[in-house]
Amino acid sequence: MPGAMVKIILDKIYNKIVPKPINLRPGYDMEHVFNYRPQTDNYRYEKVVEIEKQYDYLSIIRPHETPQQWANRVRGSLQELLSKQGYSLYHVYCLFASFGQVKSTTYYVNGDLNSTPFEYRRPSVHKSQMAICFKCWKLVKITEVEPRKEYYSGWGRWAYEVESEDLMKNHWNYSCFKTKTANMAPPARQEMISPTSYHSSNRLRGAMYRSDTGKLFISSLYVKQPKGTVLRLGDETEITVV
Ligand SMILES: [Zn+2]
Repeated sequence: MPGAMVKIILDKIYNKIVPKPINLRPGYDMEHVFNYRPQTDNYRYEKVVEIEKQYDYLSIIRPHETPQQWANRVRGSLQELLSKQGYSLYHVYCLFASFGQVKSTTYYVNGDLNSTPFEYRRPSVHKSQMAICFKCWKLVKITEVEPRKEYYSGWGRWAYEVESEDLMKNHWNYSCFKTKTANMAPPARQEMISPTSYHSSNRLRGAMYRSDTGKLFISSLYVKQPKGTVLRLGDETEITVV
C-alpha cells in the first residue's frame, strides 16, 4: 500500500548528518524528510510536496469544527485521493488531524505557478491528536510512541527508531474493526476468505467475501461507507461496499 516511508532514527552520530525531526511522527517534519532521502530523477521533491499538500489540506480541522465533523467532511475526498495511489510520507496509515494552514511560497515563472519545496511546512498537529484510520475509516486518537531500541549491525551499535506503523499498533491491535465484527454473522452462500489468503487484510477477516467472479465485497455494516463505495487495499485489491 504505501510507497516510500520515512523512518526516524535517533543516534548521536547519525543525527549529525540527518538531524532529529521536530517531533516523533515519521514524515511530519519536511526538513527531516528532505535530509532523510536525497532527491533523484524518480524522487523529485516538487512531486513529494505536491502530494503531501493534498493530504495536508484535507487534514486541517477548521475552527469551530469538531473532529467528528471534520472526519465526516473529508472522508470521501480522502478515499478518492488514496485511490490515486500517490501516497503521503506522513499520512501513511491514517490522516492525522491538523490545525492552521500549510506554508508554502509560490511564485510565477512565465505564467506557471512554481514553489520551492524546501519551504513547504505542514499545518500544526491538532491538539486532539485525532486521525482517520485508512483501514476502518474510524476517527481514532493516535499519540506519539516511545522509540524502539534496535541493533544496527552495519553500525555495530544500538540506536532508537520510530516507524509510521509504530504509531498505529495500539489501534490496530485493540480497536480497528473490532467493534463491528463482534456481532456479525458471515454473509450467506458466499465463499469466505481464509485468513491465509489475505495476509494484508487480516483485520477484514469475516467481514469480506469474494463473489464467483473473484471480486471482493464488504458489507456497509462494517465500514460505514455508502453502498457502492470502492475501497482499496494495497495497489491492486479493490473492495466494493454492498
Ligand atoms: Zn482502524
